[in-house]
Amino acid sequence: MALKQDPHVLVVGGSDSSGGAGIARDIETISAIGVRTCLAITAVTVQTHDAVRDIRPMQPGLVADQMRAALQANEVAAIKIGMLATGQIVAAVATVLRENPRIPAVLDPVLASSSGRPLLQARAIGVMKRDLMPLCRLVTPNLIELAILTGSELAGDDDDALRQGRRLLAAGPQALLIKGGHAAGPGSTDILLSLEQEPIRLDMPRLAGSMRGTGCMLASAIAAHLAGAKPLEDSVREGKRLVFEKFLQSFERESGSGA
Ligand code: PLP
Repeated sequence: MALKQDPHVLVVGGSDSSGGAGIARDIETISAIGVRTCLAITAVTVQTHDAVRDIRPMQPGLVADQMRAALQANEVAAIKIGMLATGQIVAAVATVLRENPRIPAVLDPVLASSSGRPLLQARAIGVMKRDLMPLCRLVTPNLIELAILTGSELAGDDDDALRQGRRLLAAGPQALLIKGGHAAGPGSTDILLSLEQEPIRLDMPRLAGSMRGTGCMLASAIAAHLAGAKPLEDSVREGKRLVFEKFLQSFERESGSGA
């Protein structure tokens, strides 16, 4: 039995039957860091690695009840939020965060699958910005999500991304991690942006190929390190390292040069 004092990450998100993304990835990642998880499922999805075939959102009250029960049962030291599906679920999650203001929340603002299927209703985007983001320690948009969230064109360079990031920061999250993986160029630069500090650039070499669930993994790894009381910047650096290592392993497997 889990001891109540073991720090847990409360994972709030959707299931993905393929195992490529969603809560399966979250649990895998957080467990690999040695932190326990508890769950609030927001939606059940029917997916292969190529397509989202069906999405069944939970009732918002059921999501809030799962969160409250998980918080009651465990020592929750961080909350990781992924797919939210509807505006009512966004509002329900925000209500429970407001009841627990001291627990850091990391929001991966999941808007659509890589195959292009919306995973959040378009009308819920405004609710997410207004009601949820101000309650979050960190929000982790990629460049596409950043453009949609700020009603802008896709950022053409880092300066553009920074401008959009500053606009989103004004919506109230304490910090943003802008994931630059979708930008052109030889490297992949993420930018950690907050009101207290100058922007921090985090560079990684770009690897060929793509892997599903990297957004889930990164936000989960950051939440797991925050749960272990690491400062935000260290948690982000550790999270990025983990995702890079997973990417490298999968790349080596696919190219036949690894196990
Ligand atoms: N399904 C669920 C439940 C997710 O949470 C996410 C992303 O967070 C996805 C699908 C999308 O994953 P991918 O971009 O790898 O298709």
